[in-house]
Amino acid sequence: MFARLSMIALSVMIAPIAVSAQTEGPQAQGISMEEWAQYCERWDKWDKPAPPFRIHGNTYYVGTCGISSILILGAGEHILIDSGTEKGAETVLRNINTLGVDQREIKFLTYSHEHFDHVGGHALVQEATGASVMARKQIAPVFETGVVLPNDPQAGMHKPMKPVRMGLTLDSLKGLAVSGLSIRAIETPGHSPGAMTWYWKSCDKQEGREICKSIIYADSLSPVSADDYQFSDHPKYLEEYRKGIARVAAIECDILITPHPSHSNMVRRAATGTFEGGMSCREYAAGKMRDLDKRLAKEAAEASP
Ligand SMILES: [Zn+2]
Repeated sequence: MFARLSMIALSVMIAPIAVSAQTEGPQAQGISMEEWAQYCERWDKWDKPAPPFRIHGNTYYVGTCGISSILILGAGEHILIDSGTEKGAETVLRNINTLGVDQREIKFLTYSHEHFDHVGGHALVQEATGASVMARKQIAPVFETGVVLPNDPQAGMHKPMKPVRMGLTLDSLKGLAVSGLSIRAIETPGHSPGAMTWYWKSCDKQEGREICKSIIYADSLSPVSADDYQFSDHPKYLEEYRKGIARVAAIECDILITPHPSHSNMVRRAATGTFEGGMSCREYAAGKMRDLDKRLAKEAAEASP
């Protein structure tokens, strides 16, 4: 199976890449984006089921109302980003079925960040699909043990997840490729040490014309931690955190989607019938930088007598 994996050689992170083959759409399309917006609340429960819908071209939302899970179709081989919570993963699998996509064709299961609300369902999805779980080498123990790394700002806050069998671990995860599809990975640590942002181009045929959009699945990037954790105690971690935010800000994205739909107003934007507009990558990143600065200011204020 690993022979199918090809790393994408990357010198420039921000230029869009073409989908190398036109893919057949699934048999069903799920509901419309506007219907999904009716179905879900702006800040919804993580495990509330919702039907799947198409975001653009080969890219589908198969998550719950409160946690995203993104299915990107290649030519008979597909990539799934995030499985949701252990419970939410049942919805994810059902949604893949609803679309008429063969679960066994999901080759890679990857993630946004290694917390239970996004990868707690990995074990269930792996069991059902046989997908190869991908992660950077340093994060592999989180999947293998179900426990976050000691340097995670949220270490000690979550109960362990079901362990997962690792597919392939790489020092640096630059991207993933399957037949007819390649996606880029951008390291955006901060919310968790292994947090990733994903970026790809998706094309759609509309009235004979090909409409291509660059899609970004940007990680949460929010400075949330255990009570006794101070971001200001970890200058190196902070430096990487800021670099990740800057990488997101530098991307020209047509469509922004996020692991928590609420972080980028996905329900409100879906109501317009498109995720285009409403929030740019630059605006999203700027908001995250403000949140981080606010958090650091709070830590400084608490530290001063
Ligand atoms: Zn989360």
